[in-house]
Amino acid sequence: TEDHLAHSEKMTVAGQLAAGIAHEIRNPLTSLKGFLQLMEAGVDIKGQYYKIMKEEIEKIESITSELLYISKPYSHHRTNVSLNELLTDVCTLMQSQARLNEVEIKVLLGKQNMFIECDKSQMKQAFINIIKNAIEVMEQGGEIEVRAHVENSNVVIDIQDEGPGIPDQLLDKIQEPFFTTKENGTGLGLMITNQIIENHSGDIQIISKELEKGTLFRVTLPRT
Ligand code: ADP
Ligand code: MG
Repeated sequence: TEDHLAHSEKMTVAGQLAAGIAHEIRNPLTSLKGFLQLMEAGVDIKGQYYKIMKEEIEKIESITSELLYISKPYSHHRTNVSLNELLTDVCTLMQSQARLNEVEIKVLLGKQNMFIECDKSQMKQAFINIIKNAIEVMEQGGEIEVRAHVENSNVVIDIQDEGPGIPDQLLDKIQEPFFTTKENGTGLGLMITNQIIENHSGDIQIISKELEKGTLFRVTLPRT
């Protein structure tokens, strides 16, 4: 996939994405077709193959469901949303996955209530993707801190994990579509988050210089 994108500078972003999707979906489809052909030939498919087939279908399922977010780049359903409420909701949603991974999510919000003009479900998705990654990279468990404060006309949301950090040479790559270091990753989460934040005139900074010190995702959004 990387090679695919590297020598396609003239392609549009949509074109690159389409090429990536085609590639990512074709692999599991090819493998599913192979199993079907075996069955057709009367080969007794063992239970373990059903597991692989199910995983291939799930891979296609997760790619397509993440792609649904890209298909609505601009939403007309923006409302004035309390940031404290939104972050609390997101962390509650992520609590069960966190617990399974022995990760504790701490939400440290000031008393001052901050508001942002946004599509609530998209904005939730943007933060879910960041927190989900933080949970997934902390294989030995640990703590995620979610903080928010006002800075001039903006709100700043910090999400700090205790994971392995991101090597310098990967910092530019991780927001590209389909870049993943996970066996079952789609590589779409951060790209979607990035797009949602950009569409809301915001910005993401990733601070992760040294290995072993975790990663800080800093999201800045205009406040109302
Ligand atoms: P996926 O989670 O499916 O791999 P993402 O776009 O969400 O796709 O993330 C891309 C990659 O960025 C991950 O595979 C991982 O290598 C890296 N990454 C994202 N968040 C973190 C983090 N908090 N700590 C370390 N690496 C991260
Ligand atoms: Mg992810």
